[in-house]
Amino acid sequence: MSFAIGLLCRECGQTYPTEARYSCEFCFGPLEVAYDLEAAKGVVTRESIEAGPNSIWRYGALLPDPGVEPVDLGAGWTPLRRATRLAEVLGVKELWLKDDTRNPTGSFKDRVVSCALSSARRLGFTTAACASTGNLATSVAAHAAFIGWPSVTIIPSDLEKSKIAMTAIFGGTVLGVEGSYDDVNRLCVELVAEHPDWAFANVNLRPYYAEGSKTLAFEICEQLNWSMPDQVVVPLASGSQFTKIAKGFRQFMELGLVSGDEPVLFGAQATGCSPIATAYATGAEVVTPQKPNTIARSLAIGNPADGPYVLDEVRAHGGDIGSVSDEEVLECIGLLAQTEGVFAETAGGVTIASLRQMVRRGTIDPNKSIVAIISGHGLKTLDAIADTATVTATITPSLASAEAALRANELVSAQ
Ligand SMILES: *Cc1c(COP(=O)(O)O)cnc(C)c1O
Ligand SMILES: [Zn+2]
Repeated sequence: MSFAIGLLCRECGQTYPTEARYSCEFCFGPLEVAYDLEAAKGVVTRESIEAGPNSIWRYGALLPDPGVEPVDLGAGWTPLRRATRLAEVLGVKELWLKDDTRNPTGSFKDRVVSCALSSARRLGFTTAACASTGNLATSVAAHAAFIGWPSVTIIPSDLEKSKIAMTAIFGGTVLGVEGSYDDVNRLCVELVAEHPDWAFANVNLRPYYAEGSKTLAFEICEQLNWSMPDQVVVPLASGSQFTKIAKGFRQFMELGLVSGDEPVLFGAQATGCSPIATAYATGAEVVTPQKPNTIARSLAIGNPADGPYVLDEVRAHGGDIGSVSDEEVLECIGLLAQTEGVFAETAGGVTIASLRQMVRRGTIDPNKSIVAIISGHGLKTLDAIADTATVTATITPSLASAEAALRANELVSAQ
């Protein structure tokens, strides 16, 4: 049973039932799902959660109502790994990786899509759609295939080949737009008006979609044996994941499920698309849109919808936002792989490089615990590393040739 009781305007506080609505009638502000946490107290317990499935739906009581049953392809309940070797390199004491590469389609987007399409089905929609920087399209297409729905996913046409292939294979309609993600998003807002019976996960279903990200916070607490981490580093695209991770920690605190203080949240952006980091660094009130130019395509949103809410959150809790070059991103994809055996996409490189940057400038405390969100699998962005991650040497099938190559790479000593 879900304790969701309605939709709430994030700007003026106006409330609505949990219907197909995404902006406020009065102020056009964005809506979010509200819960009756008083009623949930004592009902949603550690035991009730532990008895649930090994997916985000173990937290179903704190997610939007899926109606009969959730659309559950198995998103969530991903490993939280202690990263001792990477911690040593970064000079921090206690580092954890939330390994969301392990989701059904290889990115954290499976969490939000499982939520969005569950609500969409309850509300009577029969077609799934989205505006995407890549991972969302893949996840929407997969979940739609899983329940036998048609899907229409809309992406920039010049995305990584692997992301396009991973989306197209599920058989839906994939529209490649000659333009940026921000162009795609604008187009989708127009399409929602033309096709009100299509469930655009991150447009007209956005309030329900966004709730899925809370499960990252819930899982981190549960996997830390029902305690709060001190600091969490989160990659930023629209900023939705960041704000909902904060909401998740707060809900667990309000329910008395965890002890300790709310963690400090840190954002991570690539300098080539860093509108939120720039606003934070310059003390600006508003987030000025940017034209993205970075290999971190999954985070390349120049006009982030939740940017202002991320700024509020970071300013209120003393966090920080990193901004890192594409070279650092590539370096840190390698560093993560070579110290921990975890292969992340470019967004993961952004997170680790930003973490390193914020430790160096002293905003992240190296003596307190840190969780880094690794939000997508490296196979999604093979293009980014294809030129550097190659065979060490090409040899003929002879012992002499092999030994010569090994000597050249100092794997066996020269005689
Ligand atoms: C979408 C995405 C994010 C963050 O998205 P938000 O829009 O900020 O919620 C982070 N990492 C990856 C890999 C993504 O695909
Ligand atoms: Zn309003």
